[in-house]
Amino acid sequence: MSNMLDSYKDVVGEEVIYQLWQLAGALKGARVVHVNSTYEGGGVAEILHRLVPLQQELGLDSAWEVITGEAAFYECTKRFHNALQGNRIDIPEKLLRVYETTNQQNAEILREKLEQADFVFIHDPQPALLLQSCPNRKGRWVWRCHIDVSHPYRPVWKYLRGFLEPYDASVWSLAAFVQPISNPAYIIAPSIDPISEKNIDLDPAEIESVYEKYGLDRSLPIIVQVSRFDRFKDPVGVIQAYHLVKTFTPIQLVLAGGGAADDPEGEAMLAEVRTAAGDDPNIHVLLLPPDAHRTINALQRVADIVLQKSTREGFGLTVTEAMWKGKPVIGGNTGGIRLQVINHHTGFLVNTPEGAALRIRYLLQRRKELKRMGEEARKFALENFLLTRQLREHLTLMVAMIHEPSDRIELV
Ligand code: UDP
Repeated sequence: MSNMLDSYKDVVGEEVIYQLWQLAGALKGARVVHVNSTYEGGGVAEILHRLVPLQQELGLDSAWEVITGEAAFYECTKRFHNALQGNRIDIPEKLLRVYETTNQQNAEILREKLEQADFVFIHDPQPALLLQSCPNRKGRWVWRCHIDVSHPYRPVWKYLRGFLEPYDASVWSLAAFVQPISNPAYIIAPSIDPISEKNIDLDPAEIESVYEKYGLDRSLPIIVQVSRFDRFKDPVGVIQAYHLVKTFTPIQLVLAGGGAADDPEGEAMLAEVRTAAGDDPNIHVLLLPPDAHRTINALQRVADIVLQKSTREGFGLTVTEAMWKGKPVIGGNTGGIRLQVINHHTGFLVNTPEGAALRIRYLLQRRKELKRMGEEARKFALENFLLTRQLREHLTLMVAMIHEPSDRIELV
C-alpha cells in the first residue's frame, strides 16, 4: 500500500483513492513518458512534479523528460505560445528550422525510451516534433495542449497542426480551445495538489512571517497576484487597478513572480512592471526563486483578495491555488479562468483594470460577502480541481486508448 496516495484520503475521501487503484490496475507496468521543456516555472512543471510520482506509486512505469535547446529555440517556442494565444506573430523560417533541428537533436537522446513507451504525453508545442523522429514507436502518443488556443493566429496553428495530426489523441483544458484536428480530442482540466508545499495548510507563524520578510503593512488590505512576468498575465493592468482603488481606499499590492526556464521574455516584462510600480512603497514586486512554494502559499493566505487579471489563460493554476485557500478571485474573463471563477460566486470575472478596481472595492466594503465567496471558492476547488481528479482522467484516457474504439462508450 502506498503512503503518498494515502495522504489524500483525508482531503478527498477513501473511495476516490480506491477508484484510482482500480483504474490503475489495468495499466500496471505501463511505460509512460511525459515530455515538456522545463523542470520549473509555470503550470506544466507544477503538475508534472506531482502527477508523475503518483502514477509511479500506482504501479505505472512513468517518467518525465525535459527537452533543451539554444536561446533561439525558446525564442521560437515563445513566439508559438504568443501566436497560439492570438497575437499576430509571423515566425521567421530561420527560427522554424531551429525548432525542427532542436527536436531532432533531442530525439537522438530520447528515441529509444520514447519508441519503447506504451504512452507518450507531449506537453505543448515545444517537444511536438519528437513524434516524427520516432518512426518505430510502439505506443500511443498524446499531444497535451495547456495553452489558451481559442483564437490562434492561423498561419502558426496551420504550421503546427501538420505535426500534431499524426498523434493518436489530443488533450485540451477546455472545450472552447479545441481546434479542428483529425485525432480524437479529449478535455481534461488541470489541477492543483492539495498536499504540496504550495497548497498545504501552514501554521499561523509561517503565514505571518511574510509580513516581516517582505515589509507588508498589517493595517492595509492585501491584494495579491502570483504569476510569471508575462504580458498575458497583465501585471501592468493589475497595477492600474491598484491605483484606481487607492484613490478611494488605502491598500497594498503584492505582485509575486519568477521566470520559467523556457520563457525568454520575463526580464523585459519585469522591467516594465517595475517602471509601472515606481517608488510606491505599497506595491511589492517580488522576484521569487522557483522553489518558493511555501512563500507563495503564505502570500496567497495573507491576501484579502487574489487577482489573476490575465488577458489569455490556458487554465491558471494560481486561481485554484487561491480558491483552495478560501480566497475569492478576481480574474480576467478569459480561457481557463472562466472554468474556475464563477462570476459572483467564487469571485468576479473582469475585462479591464477599471472592472478589477470596482470589484476589489466591492469586496473590501463587504467583508461578509468576501468571506462567503471565499468559502464557495474552496468548495468549488475541492469538487473540481484537485490532482486526484486529473489523475483519474489521465488513467481513464489511457485505459480507453488501449481498447479498440468499438469497446468503449463515447460520450458526445
Ligand atoms: N509560480 C511559482 N512561482 C512564481 C510564479 C508562479 O511557483 O514565481 C507557480 C504558480 O503558483 C502556479 C504555476 O507556477 O502553480 C503557474 O501556473 P499557471 O497555470 O497559473 O500559469 P502558467 O505560468 O503555466 O502560464
